[in-house]
Amino acid sequence: MDLTAVTGYRRATTRADLALAPGETLVAGGTWVFSEPNRDVTGLVDLMTMPWEPIEVTDAGLRIGATCTIARLLEEPPVPGWRAQPLFDEAANALLASFKIWNEATVVGNVCRSFAAAAMLAACATLDGVAEIWAADGSVRREPVASLPTGNGTNTLRAGDVVRAIDIPAAALRGRTALRKIALAELGRSGAVVTGRRDEDDAVTIVVTAATLTPCVYSFPVPPSEARLVESVRSEGDFYTDALGTEDWRRHVTGVLAARVLADLMGADPGDDRRTECTA
Ligand SMILES: Cc1cc2nc3c(=O)[nH]c(=O)nc-3n(C[C@H](O)[C@H](O)[C@H](O)COP(=O)(O)OP(=O)(O)OC[C@H]3O[C@@H](n4cnc5c(N)ncnc54)[C@H](O)[C@@H]3O)c2cc1C
Repeated sequence: MDLTAVTGYRRATTRADLALAPGETLVAGGTWVFSEPNRDVTGLVDLMTMPWEPIEVTDAGLRIGATCTIARLLEEPPVPGWRAQPLFDEAANALLASFKIWNEATVVGNVCRSFAAAAMLAACATLDGVAEIWAADGSVRREPVASLPTGNGTNTLRAGDVVRAIDIPAAALRGRTALRKIALAELGRSGAVVTGRRDEDDAVTIVVTAATLTPCVYSFPVPPSEARLVESVRSEGDFYTDALGTEDWRRHVTGVLAARVLADLMGADPGDDRRTECTA
């Protein structure tokens, strides 16, 4: 643990407990909070003790509670007709070092950390996930997961906001999905991730993350041609350069990955034989 300034620790069990005093911050799985010095953090409020169901399956869809770890989501039994469920496994495997953090890291924590390479965020955005946000003033608002990030590690959440859950609609879960990624090292942080969904009415959604600072969502009422898709994903998006890849490399491989995701969505159903790696 890298925290050095913490003097207080509280376990939240009610909404009132989630109100943060100056210097306090929320901790869920703690895989990021405990990995940085966070010198301005003097108190931790543990939300894993909130009496929330980690997962709720209803006719409306899937509710992923803020206490749901990645491992718990992956343990959820297949729901008949929800062809998109394997996307969560693929996203979990796209994380840096993958399984090392699954037992502690939460899905919502990954969304709230809002890194460009937040693969659970990518999966939720691809499935039209909506965040239920509890504000410090007692109000509740809902915001699409895809529009939460404002940069690599920044988002629209305000001080004291708590993401209570992410709701995934059943219609999106019935869609067919695919994920392709590339990283400079085999288990390294992703340099580019492209996810896709093809709905029962043939509408196609393509989402670019990791290559761009914020998620880029492309919606097509009917499947686009490969050329049109590649042109779209390469011409838009806030591609960037860091140690994990240059801007022009990210732009190029995003086009390659998008073409492969489209082929995955249009070809024979791969069943359990989905590939998540790409050599661009
Ligand atoms: C080995 C390793 C590999 C990693 N790989 C990746 C990766 O590939 N991609 C990536 O994006 N991240 C990665 N991370 C960073 C981080 O661990 C993950 O994003 C993880 O999913 C965060 O979840 P957590 O529950 O541990 O969050 P925490 O560390 O507990 O919290 C993360 C942040 O979110 C806030 N937060 C948590 N829950 C809520 C909530 N319900 N409402 C409001 N705010 C909340 C916290 O205050 C904190 O600012 C990695 C970390 C490690 C140690």
